[in-house]
Amino acid sequence: MDNLRLWHKFLQIIKPLVGPDNFKAYFLKTFLKSVDANNVVLNTSSAFIKESLDQKYKNLIEQTLSKLLDKKVVVSFIVKESPTEVEGPDEAFFQPQLTSIFQLNPKYTLENFVVGPTNNLAYAAAEAVAQNPGTSYNPLFIYGGTGVGKTHLMLGIGNAIKRKHPQFKVNYCSSEKFTNDYVEALQTRQFGAFRSRYRNVNILLIDDVQFFSGREGTQEEFFHTFNELSSKNSQIVITSDRPPYEIAKLEDRLKSRFQGGLMVDMQTPDFDTRVAILKNKCIEQRYLLDEASLNLIAASVETNARDLEGKLIQILQALKTKKMEPTSENISKLLGKKADTDLKNLTPKQVLIKVCEYFSIKQLDLIGPRRIKGLVLPRHLAMHILSEDLNLTVEKIGEIMGGRDHTTVMHGRDKIKRLIVENRDIQRILGEVKQNLSTSIQ
Ligand code: ADP
Ligand code: MG
Repeated sequence: MDNLRLWHKFLQIIKPLVGPDNFKAYFLKTFLKSVDANNVVLNTSSAFIKESLDQKYKNLIEQTLSKLLDKKVVVSFIVKESPTEVEGPDEAFFQPQLTSIFQLNPKYTLENFVVGPTNNLAYAAAEAVAQNPGTSYNPLFIYGGTGVGKTHLMLGIGNAIKRKHPQFKVNYCSSEKFTNDYVEALQTRQFGAFRSRYRNVNILLIDDVQFFSGREGTQEEFFHTFNELSSKNSQIVITSDRPPYEIAKLEDRLKSRFQGGLMVDMQTPDFDTRVAILKNKCIEQRYLLDEASLNLIAASVETNARDLEGKLIQILQALKTKKMEPTSENISKLLGKKADTDLKNLTPKQVLIKVCEYFSIKQLDLIGPRRIKGLVLPRHLAMHILSEDLNLTVEKIGEIMGGRDHTTVMHGRDKIKRLIVENRDIQRILGEVKQNLSTSIQ
């Protein structure tokens, strides 16, 4: 068992024992730094956490880890180097060597990434990679639905490494950019510049690799890029909206490379994490909202962190333009108002049209009796939206869907409800269909 998995197991055991609040306060941003014979070193994020762990939890930690490792261990704590300590005069010295194509957006850091139960394993992996690039997990493959924080975490790794090793070349690029650059290199026959940009780096961050699907030339080129980088122990970090084995039309050799390091998934943040993310974003916007307001907003957006941020910006904007005080009553009003103009006002016909458009199927097929596989999901999704967003009764929905029985409607609606919780594809599809619907309102 490697350190990361060991730590993850440890967290799972310890969580119910210490309770959610203590867990969040003391354990979420604490990591296992090393296990050496009988000595275990834990990396904590502040002196305060270090003290608290040492005084309150040392015994429990030692007992739990001893059980997991099947040997008696002694635990000691260190405080992680803070970024300001790392930034020394060296940085200024190396700065001119950094070329502009390697600029990373400094807004996204590991420090301002909020850690919760749906992303802590991915975060721990990101920390591990940032601390020891190219050694432990290569590649690091992060996957999860849209807006859950993959790009943020990836840039966080890049920024942390650059801070620690200013001379490192870190290249962040989307898969589309890689593809476009490759095509351009083909056309202009300038492979030298292309290869040096992608192969002559210490860290390559490739975002949304699912876009490589079906692009054979790009995949071939990336395969060689990958091999060269990993043979030099350059760190590769990849994100995708799904795991490698679910990416269609991706060469097997790439799939196996992607799976050869560490794969971690990220899920939609839970309520507490959403509140914490909102707090962070408010600080960035230099705007103060009280706890009740944050809770209201967090409760109103369950899809992902990007939508959450969008909603916050929208509310802050509305407060400003309408010159409203940022009270929870006002925010509740704004949220309620938005809900009115939301999907509720759509007609069932609009829903059917958009669902059919999305899946490229005919409306007659959607509401018709044919029982073929490709029609099942669109039907269930339509039932779900008609029920949850338009608040129609199951009987009414049965009518709209071509005279189906209300129990059929209940079955379809509930099926989607269940799937949303665990199935990323469904989350994404439903999100996209709803997005299309909401743009058709304006
Ligand atoms: P993805 O790449 O998975 O689609 P992003 O990384 O672009 O998602 O995240 C969308 C937005 O949500 C970004 O503004 C990001 O900063 C924010 N975000 C997501 N997760 C978190 C988190 N755990 N803590 C802070 N901000 C987050
Ligand atoms: Mg992204």
